[in-house]
Amino acid sequence: MEIKAIRGFNDILPDEIGKWQFVEKTAREVFEGFGFSEIRIPIIERTELFSRGIGEATDIVEKEMYTFTDKSGNSLTLRPEATASMARAYLEHQLHTFDPVAKLYCIGPMFRYERPQKGRYRQFYQIDAEVFGVDNPMVDAEVIVMLIHFLERVGLEKLELQINSLGCRKCRPRYREELKSFLTKKSFQLCEDCQRRLETNPLRIFDCKVETCQKAIADAPKVLDFIDDECQNHFGKVKEYLEAAGLTYILNPRMVRGLDYYTRTAFEVVSYQLGSQNAVTGGGRYDDLFKDIGGLDVPGIGFAIGMERLISLLPKDKEFVQYPHLFIAALGGETNREAYRLVNQLHLEGIRAELDYEGKSLKSQMRRADKLKARYVLILGEEELKKGRAVLRNMKTKSQEEIPMKDLLDTLKAKLQQFSVKINRMGDLASEG
Ligand code: ATP
Ligand code: MG
Repeated sequence: MEIKAIRGFNDILPDEIGKWQFVEKTAREVFEGFGFSEIRIPIIERTELFSRGIGEATDIVEKEMYTFTDKSGNSLTLRPEATASMARAYLEHQLHTFDPVAKLYCIGPMFRYERPQKGRYRQFYQIDAEVFGVDNPMVDAEVIVMLIHFLERVGLEKLELQINSLGCRKCRPRYREELKSFLTKKSFQLCEDCQRRLETNPLRIFDCKVETCQKAIADAPKVLDFIDDECQNHFGKVKEYLEAAGLTYILNPRMVRGLDYYTRTAFEVVSYQLGSQNAVTGGGRYDDLFKDIGGLDVPGIGFAIGMERLISLLPKDKEFVQYPHLFIAALGGETNREAYRLVNQLHLEGIRAELDYEGKSLKSQMRRADKLKARYVLILGEEELKKGRAVLRNMKTKSQEEIPMKDLLDTLKAKLQQFSVKINRMGDLASEG
């Protein structure tokens, strides 16, 4: 039987990889410009890190984790998100002793056992950025500004920034009770999951996609009406700083985020191009997470961007695939050795060159060069080679010229310079000349 990939686990093939590399490269550039450093954390952690960090009564911990027992009997989990691991690493390596403020980012796969569908997979990639050690609302705004700047740099449009404040552990319990008693009266309208959530975690009901639950919650009390003065004040400052940075936002009093560790500021960026899985990214403040995982009292704020969803939103008309710069068509005899010598030399110069390995006819080599979308073809004929010359064909304009072999490298470098332009922004992508 043929072995296939597991459901919900995707291969990212060479014709898509250009987009991934572009997004990752842009993230690194933007985040590092904002003072963030990369951190790499393990794919697997002790289950307890997530159950304590994310919260027992969340969808992730209740039903989405890939948890298994290893050969020593430890309960381990494939990371469903990165924040808890980053907090663990900060504590474990005492990064606060170097500087209390840590600005960190991380790019990599996450694992959640969800029903696979468009925009929802079991292995998916996230770009995460977190600031540990500051509770000043200035940093909430700084993180959001960086996020929006990044999304615009990669070329996303029709985005909406939604913000809310979830209060803190002092004021939220009162809201929770209020919400619970409101929803208890409507519990007949709630789905089975939400009936249970009503007891364990009523705020989660806001996230339920079932229509009757959405109706039940439509005119529920709003968390913003219950948060205490300190939280109000903090949120007010976040809004001021966002406005000072020129960002527009929408207050979404029903946005609660799916993880329990959030306190105060919560935000999401949604795209109207995405349909029902419309959240590209979300994040918020989590001033209790560090204590929950057994560490110091360190505030934090950050976000996670879903890369698959982000990539599906990149402008369709941009070229991300790297094509060979040159295809060398050798026509037998001595020319094959020359082609081999040339291709090695070009590779060492960073020029993407491809050749034929099977002694095919010129016609079929030209067909392959065309299929590979090579920018130029160098035709090496025996007669020409004896005279120290070869024919260079521009595959777009179809024009051909004879060039001296000794000038080949310089000629190619000059012609290809335009293709080695650094891909910084979408607009800078080299176009065929
Ligand atoms: P959703 O409400 O769509 O389930 P979430 O609140 O569970 O999202 P987060 O935990 O905040 O998502 O993760 C941040 C981002 O990661 C999401 O905005 C989304 O883009 C992406 N994401 C989350 N789960 C998946 C998944 N199973 N497959 C692909 N992307 C995902
Ligand atoms: Mg989810």
